[in-house]
Amino acid sequence: MRGAVLHAPGDVRIEDLDDPSIVEPTDAIIRVSATCVCGSDLWPYRGINEVTGPFPIGHEYCGVVEDVGSEVTSLRPGQFVIRSFIASDGTCPHCRAGYQSACAHRGGIQGAQAELLRVPHADGTLVPTADRRPPTGPAPSSCRAC
Ligand SMILES: [Zn+2]
Repeated sequence: MRGAVLHAPGDVRIEDLDDPSIVEPTDAIIRVSATCVCGSDLWPYRGINEVTGPFPIGHEYCGVVEDVGSEVTSLRPGQFVIRSFIASDGTCPHCRAGYQSACAHRGGIQGAQAELLRVPHADGTLVPTADRRPPTGPAPSSCRAC
């Protein structure tokens, strides 16, 4: 697959990367329909955060489920899903209280500016839309989440 990789401040390259795969039984793989540049992507891009080596970038995304791990119960291939940059299990006291961003088992998402993305804690992280198809129409001009 192709994806964006930040090598150094101001140096973003589109490269051929290995396709992600299911690592944990709670993972999902999605085909990214849309992704954006978050303000926190710009910190390393501008050199405000140190870049210690090349890394895949992007953590704001939506897409279509391609595959799910054996313990994923709420998602199936073909569903359109959305979510932000935090992976959350959906089961800890913080998640059950509605504070998924403070999940006891939270993890970051990176590499969303690519064709495919591995999402940990898929049941707690991804939110399927009622309509299984990706939305049509123009993309929003800016991210309102950050
Ligand atoms: Zn949690």
